[in-house]
Amino acid sequence: MADMLIKLHRNPLTSRLVKALGVPDPVTLARADGGYAPRPFDGKQVLLCRSPGGYAADALQRALADAGASHADQLPPDSTVRADIVVMDATGCAAPADYRALYDAFHPIMRRIARNGRVLLVAASPADCATPAALAVSRGMEGFVRSLAKELGPKGITVNQLYAERAALDRLAGPLRFFCGVPSTYVTGQVLHVAAQVTAPESAPFSKALAGKVALVTGAARGIGLATAERLAQEGATVVALDVPAAEEELRRVCAAFNGVPLAMDIASEAAPRQLAGFLAERFGGIDIVVHNAGITRDRTLANMTQPQWELVMQINLAAVMAVDAQLLEQGLVKQDGRIVCLSSVSGVAGNFGQTNYATSKAALIGYVAAQAPLLAARGICINAVAPGFIETAMTGQMPFLTREIGRRLNSLKQAGLPRDVAELITFLGTPGACGITGQTVRVCGQGLIGA
Ligand code: NAD
Repeated sequence: MADMLIKLHRNPLTSRLVKALGVPDPVTLARADGGYAPRPFDGKQVLLCRSPGGYAADALQRALADAGASHADQLPPDSTVRADIVVMDATGCAAPADYRALYDAFHPIMRRIARNGRVLLVAASPADCATPAALAVSRGMEGFVRSLAKELGPKGITVNQLYAERAALDRLAGPLRFFCGVPSTYVTGQVLHVAAQVTAPESAPFSKALAGKVALVTGAARGIGLATAERLAQEGATVVALDVPAAEEELRRVCAAFNGVPLAMDIASEAAPRQLAGFLAERFGGIDIVVHNAGITRDRTLANMTQPQWELVMQINLAAVMAVDAQLLEQGLVKQDGRIVCLSSVSGVAGNFGQTNYATSKAALIGYVAAQAPLLAARGICINAVAPGFIETAMTGQMPFLTREIGRRLNSLKQAGLPRDVAELITFLGTPGACGITGQTVRVCGQGLIGA
């Protein structure tokens, strides 16, 4: 479904009229169509700022250099030069007065960050904060980051934060590449913990990052699932693309484009977990990446909702996820360094009118990944949830025009995301380089106002 506002602004015949009417013009977001480059920051203007006494700058510097960036501590005086990437080690901020480092770093450059620029702030992990005051100051970064994301969003600049554990500094490189790279275009205002809880993989390549891996994507015939299957395959994975038997023909057609393995199956049927486990065991000896994407809505106010509408949503969105994982884990089919990603939703974070069933199922997934993470850590398995906001798919295409139009604008980037944007986040969480991230829910919503 095309975004009418963006179309009007980009059309030479109508752009002057909509501008004259004062209709907001959403920025054109940068998007990649290829896989990860080995040195994605080559040629970028990169700024690395530090708070005195921080402990992450050296690790960040190494990771930036490895990604091709030659960084500066300051922008050159020539005011036409813009920063493409700003990284700040704020781990030294432990007392209120230390916040001054944030002001000193960002105030002078607020008008000098390029369109579609990236800002990443690294704060001390709560695990490394020795006093309540230090913890409070570290936590305060979230307010800064989320506000900055709102101020810079209209230029397509994303602002995100990592809490870095001292013991996990060697795991910053993967998140740094994602959050400072083009693929995170619709992920902003997010805060993640990078921890050493999960056993790290022996190697973590950053391009063709998934070569040799096998991935399962449910609901892969269209929308976010299809984009994810394509993106994982682009990164070198063999992808088993599962969808309902009614979509089999379509599934076969799309799979041909990325050498995917089509699998027609209703994931919510009683036999599905066992059949799926049997298929994966026999064909691949297990699975490296599981993306629980299949999901449905049956929206009604609770007063008008039928019991089948209630049950079906719970069955497909939640019970099937748990049943499949239980079977795969019980049989030891999720391999060492495995990755599980569940598709939650901002409705699961904030609730939504007419979605008591859907929001319950999606909120449960947030609890599910948090509960599973410590149980799977010793096997090197990370499990996370992704919570999309308003994404242009058949699911949102069903909405009434006005609801859809409002839904698209209620975020800092003033536009909907594309399936590829969600696929990028899922793919990153599937890579070995994301081994510091588990048990978390990351929103891909352009910093949606709902549930913010
Ligand atoms: P979509 O409706 O376009 O595609 C969903 C796919 O899942 C379809 O191909 C469908 O056939 C398949 N599917 C449904 N039930 C299945 C079953 N029982 N077994 C196997 N396959 C099944 O949806 P989408 O918009 O691409 O959303 C994908 C996921 O992202 C869903 O879990 C959804 O809840 C979540 N999500 C989407 C948005 C959005 O804005 N589009 C926002 C938040 C969350």
